[in-house]
Amino acid sequence: MKLRDSITKIKGIGEKTAVLFAKAGIHTIEDLVQYYPRAYETYGEPVELSEAEDGKKCAVFGYILSVSSVKKYTKYQVFTAQIKAGGEVMQGTWFNMPFLRNYFQRGGQYIFRGVLCRRGNQYRMEQPETYSLGDYEKLLHVMQPKYSLTAGLTGKMVTKAVRQVLDDGEINMEEHLPEEIRKCYGLLPKWQAVRQVHFPACEDEMRRARDRLVFDEFLFFILGIRRMKESWARLSNEARMLEVPETERLIGMLPYDLTGAQKKVWKEISADMTGSHIMSRLVQGDVGSGKTVLAVLALVMAGCNGYQGALMVPTEVLAKQHFQSIQELLIKYEIPLKPVLLTGSMTAKEKRMAGEKIACGTVQIVIGTHALIQENVNYHRLGLVVTDEQHRFGVRQREMLAGKGQHPHVLVMSATPIPRTLAIIVYGDLDISVVDELPARRLPIKNCVVDESYRSSAYRFMEKETAMGYQVYIICPMVEESDEMELENVTDYTKKLKDLLPELRIACLHGKMKAKEKNQIMEQFAEGQIQILVSTTVIEVGINVPNATVMMVENAERFGLAQLHQLRGRVGRGTAQSYCIFMSGSKGKETKKRLEVLNQSNDGFYIAGEDLKLRGPGDLFGIRQSGILEFKLGDVFQDAKVLKAAGEAAGRILDKDPQLELSEHRLLAERLESCLKKGGEGISL
Ligand code: ADP
Ligand code: MG
Repeated sequence: MKLRDSITKIKGIGEKTAVLFAKAGIHTIEDLVQYYPRAYETYGEPVELSEAEDGKKCAVFGYILSVSSVKKYTKYQVFTAQIKAGGEVMQGTWFNMPFLRNYFQRGGQYIFRGVLCRRGNQYRMEQPETYSLGDYEKLLHVMQPKYSLTAGLTGKMVTKAVRQVLDDGEINMEEHLPEEIRKCYGLLPKWQAVRQVHFPACEDEMRRARDRLVFDEFLFFILGIRRMKESWARLSNEARMLEVPETERLIGMLPYDLTGAQKKVWKEISADMTGSHIMSRLVQGDVGSGKTVLAVLALVMAGCNGYQGALMVPTEVLAKQHFQSIQELLIKYEIPLKPVLLTGSMTAKEKRMAGEKIACGTVQIVIGTHALIQENVNYHRLGLVVTDEQHRFGVRQREMLAGKGQHPHVLVMSATPIPRTLAIIVYGDLDISVVDELPARRLPIKNCVVDESYRSSAYRFMEKETAMGYQVYIICPMVEESDEMELENVTDYTKKLKDLLPELRIACLHGKMKAKEKNQIMEQFAEGQIQILVSTTVIEVGINVPNATVMMVENAERFGLAQLHQLRGRVGRGTAQSYCIFMSGSKGKETKKRLEVLNQSNDGFYIAGEDLKLRGPGDLFGIRQSGILEFKLGDVFQDAKVLKAAGEAAGRILDKDPQLELSEHRLLAERLESCLKKGGEGISL
């Protein structure tokens, strides 16, 4: 076997199974070994049923008394087995695994492992894992990997495949780090780390393996950004602009005064655009700090100087929203510039028309999603590129967009609550502005952390708020196991809620919907037609509906605090008092304490730090902290130390070899190139 080989080279993976793997993005053996576990499980000794606890996961030794036939329903198939364990009988139920039915022999002895449901001396397990005694013996007390799964793919399938590859002596993954760097930061060799992350013998091994892999993720990310910036920083300003009266006029006419921070940052931006070098600036500011208006000012300045400006955002909903508010603003304040919207879900005709307007320069402000960087979009004197909430964009995508103009100014807006020191590591010498002040007149959001017993009061509260004309968000967590489940989660929830509150206009939004549907729902919500919006975290980025005053987050314990904070920023945007209800599905004290941090502060930096402190370093795989700068394994908060090390290493490597031409960097350069090609996936800025 070789890394480049298709996974069908693995015994037991035929075309059919390969399709399941492909759904999880695994095509080659290399993809497979880099499909890292998202958690680990330790297997304990089998227990006696009579001593087992209700609702706990456990392993039980027993033999099969009888097996039912497979019953088929429209959506699923099911069969049950009666299992004799010690003096008790337990019923096992399996969904959508009809093939298992034939595997079970009467009298066959197995270990059944699953969550036990116990009512008196009646015992049930749904979908237990089944092991032969010998197999289970091998698992005992070892850390077993848990993988993210898509429908049809089981943990066992992945584990078995990975095991086979790792047991194959021929395969090796060449080291791309110079020995000197690897030694200096105490990193495991690459291939050892990859092997070890799947099947660590102990927690310490797992941690060391993970550190090495996270280091690589960060290193490639940082190298990618720095290399891109290298080619920018020294460029002189070919789109040199002059101050224009329109921006001052706009500032004067806004219904509010700019905060001190906004004024300061605007000054920095306009100094860049009128200066001698092209702008490459990151504007960091917490949610609600008012970054949009800064983008608008920059776009107006570019437009009034005869340049085109582009605003690129990660979602269609956000693009549309920005487009509408900017259009309104331009008309209302009589600024002689025309905007246009360009998104992927527009019809071919609409796209062509927008494209024409862009190409011949009848529009000066172009707003859209990544459709903006499609090959067939041609700009007319592109002088400024603003990316909002741009961490979702790949470095390469940004480069492509920038490549469409000569050398446009680049302004990057981000709410990523990373401390300034880390921002410097990540973004290197990109100039950073911080909007470190929230607009006045804003009432702080009132938060509460509650459990199920408060549910009916929460719904009554929503009725009250909607009766006063306000709107509500309800956020359901993404469900990791399968994409279908996520969908079920929000749609089922919405159904139930509609039954419960039949008077209210309730709708649902999730990642599986088509962009067009999403847009419609968001629009209706923005216009107040929808009163309660049940959504997954797809709404997290940038949405602005000031009339929404309540947010309820279901299973809040499953979110990282920084992400909850990000979500919470969707309310409290108007002048009315806003509320955030964190519904915790777990009664644990720890969870409560953790969520209480959100009560202490509205400061994203502080919250992220406290969350880390509370959960401690042990919880490495538990919850994603940022949910923002997304890496496969790494988390900028959790792995801040590794991030720092990677930043330093990147500096050393580039100082010595800015173009990565030395032979010792050959493999590094190759892998970096292939990371960049993947665009928004592996590396995103
Ligand atoms: P973000 O920084 O999260 O992108 P927005 O730019 O969306 O924040 O601003 C959030 C809300 O605050 C908007 O409704 C905007 O009109 C308003 N806003 C922006 N600046 C000010 C200010 N200086 N005073 C009052 N409200 C402001
Ligand atoms: Mg914003």
